[in-house]
Amino acid sequence: MKTETQRRKGAKAQRTVFPLRLCAFAPLRFDTHAQRPYRFVIIGGGISGLALAWFLRQRFNDASIIVLEKQERPGGWIRTVRCGDFLFEEGPRSCRSRGTGTATLQLIEDLKLESQWLAAAPASQKRFLYIDGSLQQMPNGILGFLSSPLTRCLIPAFCKEWRVSPLEKEDESIYDFISRRLNKDIAERFIDPMTSGIYAGDIRQLSMRSCFPAIYELEQAHGSLLKGFVKGLFRKKEEPHLSSFVKKAQKFPIFTLKNGMESLITALSNSIGNDLNLGTAAINFEVKNDEIQISTNQGSTFSADHVFITTPAEATKELLKSLKIDVPSLPHASLAVVNMGWNSDVLKKSGFGYLIPTKEKEKLLGMVWDSSAFPGQNTYPNQTRMTAMLGGMHHPDIPQLQDEELIALAMESLQKHLNISIPPDTIHTKTTRQAIPQYPVGHLTKVQALEQNLAKASNSRISLLGIPWHGVSVNDCIANAKTLVSTLCV
Ligand SMILES: Cc1cc2nc3c(=O)[nH]c(=O)nc-3n(C[C@H](O)[C@H](O)[C@H](O)COP(=O)(O)OP(=O)(O)OC[C@H]3O[C@@H](n4cnc5c(N)ncnc54)[C@H](O)[C@@H]3O)c2cc1C
Repeated sequence: MKTETQRRKGAKAQRTVFPLRLCAFAPLRFDTHAQRPYRFVIIGGGISGLALAWFLRQRFNDASIIVLEKQERPGGWIRTVRCGDFLFEEGPRSCRSRGTGTATLQLIEDLKLESQWLAAAPASQKRFLYIDGSLQQMPNGILGFLSSPLTRCLIPAFCKEWRVSPLEKEDESIYDFISRRLNKDIAERFIDPMTSGIYAGDIRQLSMRSCFPAIYELEQAHGSLLKGFVKGLFRKKEEPHLSSFVKKAQKFPIFTLKNGMESLITALSNSIGNDLNLGTAAINFEVKNDEIQISTNQGSTFSADHVFITTPAEATKELLKSLKIDVPSLPHASLAVVNMGWNSDVLKKSGFGYLIPTKEKEKLLGMVWDSSAFPGQNTYPNQTRMTAMLGGMHHPDIPQLQDEELIALAMESLQKHLNISIPPDTIHTKTTRQAIPQYPVGHLTKVQALEQNLAKASNSRISLLGIPWHGVSVNDCIANAKTLVSTLCV
């Protein structure tokens, strides 16, 4: 493996790339013996693969960029469906505007989808927990936190948090981290449902460092979450140059796209055109001295200077078998989604919806009040749209149920939690098996080792991207793709 200095001294024809976050130890390499454009092959046409193709195209105008997608449609978990007058999301429904959301907003602008951008209604800032047998509103802001009966009891734990010594181990579970710095009650009542809303996972198994890196870093950098938070309030943040569209959008914490998240997939797929090969699964690699050959289930072969694998972990493991690379096995949460629509206003509350701590022993993970959060997606004003989320690591049996049983569970929860007994006019169910990878304690170290081994075995010609490695949100997928491309040194 070459260092940056060695690389610069190397032959002129050799182009080496150093993605920072994704392969910090693994320089990627392209040899361009001829004056021909680069040849990139991207395996997987979910948001990671499609966004990657877009960013590569922006940077390498004349490159050949091929995307191979196993399914007959692109988008992976992202899918918007219309059932009569109702817009439903089977997968992701919204993104945060801040943090890695900046990359998503910029992509929306670059794709000229600004008119599709839709901010969540102000009411969506109201979020609820189903706790101690009733729905309770989470407070907003510091004053709300100090005065709300739900969170007032947390103040003593926060007052002593700054005295807790930082962790000396490299990583620990979310439960251990929060219990150590605050207390077990906070871990179980507040952090558990928040984790369910993102990972549908078990806080006793998930890695703090990989799942909530920003909170983990507060402790690393400041020795305390409270100190880090307070310092952050006074630190002048360096704002990157942002367009007026992004600045405006970031005034609203959450957004979606008016015609659904799939609009992003459609726009990206259109930009790739015929180079997006649907129904085409990569099945094997052959690493040659100066290129990689990828064979597909269609009997076709593609040659590439560099290959990007954006498939789920198990598919990646299978693909890398021939290189004898050990890909860590990740547990995955399966989910069942029940989308429900009414032609009338049946929801007497407003807000984003609610989440349920595991200790409440409910079968539901939570409920999103889509029509209240995004009324701009309603076909007419009195429509009600809600989505029940079921399954996850604590209920692996639920996504195995038949549709009627899932619907019955959703109805039961509606009645119990919201006192709604009117049956929906339209129902759509979707079960997503092995959907969300669960990053176990020590995940990051294993991923770094994997990336190093892959660089060695592939002559630095294969890199990994996507949901199994560095973040499970749509924003993370897009921001990681952008970072990978921007850090290629050529
Ligand atoms: C129910 C649900 C709700 C969610 N809600 C949100 C949300 O509200 N906000 C949010 O930010 N995120 C949410 N997420 C997470 C988000 O959907 C994912 O992070 C994101 O879609 C992952 O994209 P990806 O491209 O990395 O992976 P995937 O979507 O898994 O795409 C990988 C692609 O690789 C293809 N593939 C597999 N094997 C091969 C092969 N051998 N050759 C070629 N192609 C192959 C697959 O067919 C697939 O299309 C949700 C996820 C689920 C399941």
